[in-house]
Amino acid sequence: MSDAADAVVVIADRAVTGVPGASAVRGATAVLAVDGAIVLVDDPAAVLADPRAAAARRIDWSGRALVPGTVNTHNHSFQSLLRGIGDDLPFLAWRDRALYRYSPRLDARGMETAALFAFGEMLLHGVTTVCDFYYLNAQGNDNASATIEAARRLGMRIVLARCFYDWDGAPAAYRETIPQAVRHFEELHRHYHDAARQLVSVQPAPHSQHGATPDMIVAGAGCARDAGVPWHIHLAEESYQVDQSLARFGARPLHAVAALPVDMARMIAVHGCWFDAGERALLAERGGSLAYCPGSNMFLGDGVTDLVDLVARGVKVGLGTDGGCSNNRVSVFDEMRMAALLQKVHRTDGQAIDAETCFALGTRTAGAVLRLPVGAIAPGYRCDLVALDLADPSLWPAQALEKNVVYALSPRAITDVVVDGHEVVAARQLRHVELPEIQARVSELTADWIRD
Ligand SMILES: [Zn+2]
Repeated sequence: MSDAADAVVVIADRAVTGVPGASAVRGATAVLAVDGAIVLVDDPAAVLADPRAAAARRIDWSGRALVPGTVNTHNHSFQSLLRGIGDDLPFLAWRDRALYRYSPRLDARGMETAALFAFGEMLLHGVTTVCDFYYLNAQGNDNASATIEAARRLGMRIVLARCFYDWDGAPAAYRETIPQAVRHFEELHRHYHDAARQLVSVQPAPHSQHGATPDMIVAGAGCARDAGVPWHIHLAEESYQVDQSLARFGARPLHAVAALPVDMARMIAVHGCWFDAGERALLAERGGSLAYCPGSNMFLGDGVTDLVDLVARGVKVGLGTDGGCSNNRVSVFDEMRMAALLQKVHRTDGQAIDAETCFALGTRTAGAVLRLPVGAIAPGYRCDLVALDLADPSLWPAQALEKNVVYALSPRAITDVVVDGHEVVAARQLRHVELPEIQARVSELTADWIRD
């Protein structure tokens, strides 16, 4: 270890490590990280005795519990600006009257404002990694770059899932030709590729079966293969999309995509509310993943993904909040609770799924879906941590900590957040951007936006 190494020790009274097995919940715990990577997790005395801890910065989280930073596998940051404007409408009316109406008005500075808003609020809710499925590209990378820079300014980890979109029913700002989309993806990926700390990743995202032609889906998946990253696609969110797939391609959504020359093992399907048993079996067989957004699916009345069956089949699933105008919260802790409650009522079975499974879906397996070493407190993972105030009554009684985090946690209990070994929220405040600055920018930008 060189003198210049960036070492930090974080010490807390309790920990939920997110690692399966006996060590999942611990008493007093210290985490040693070097250059943003966790190298040791043990009792505080043992960690402080390690030579690598001698010159380390100390972060004292006494009175608090450590949990892994949560991982949001699906979001559209600009949609936070539309919160409250398109609520309580049918899906297509919501899309046309909120999304399609206001989103084309945003320039790069507006995108940056949206991202500071969405990501800043997420950090305060304990999200340390966000995947922003980004389709307002306006035939370039200025907007996506402004979004990435907002995450960097806040100190958050971001996956920019750069959209591939060529359906002419959508606003022009969404659309590109296949060569444009490929070139822009490659430029953005090359510019931001960060193999060491992985604070920024760029992954391709052919929008959906309706938003991208089969050739464009194939092009996006090809870019993922060349870059060695996953690719994202919305599938079977609404039941009408199954009917459209059957009419256009003669096959249900997942079967239609599987018929293309694409690597399904790299695919992250988003939603999958209407996947039938054959599609769920195919997803498992081909090693595909799912980004599951229970809060959004309920908010829009989409349907209920059979999460229990997918998990039983061994499909990797990560939770997502989806956009801030289709949920309307941005908390992955909240999605853990939503996932559990929705699956229990859907099956009328209180044992359909448990808190520990849902905790993993918002942390470790979500990291695995995005192919990032995040979501657990263990050597080899990035040092992304959240502190929960053990004095908050939502976490009592303390002996049921992991259950309480999933079912009872109040966001009030989230006090501090570390990303890659650095504090980004301290004492419930963003450290690098002032919240009043974000508030002023949001109100100025949306002053004349109305719902009608
Ligand atoms: Zn989406």
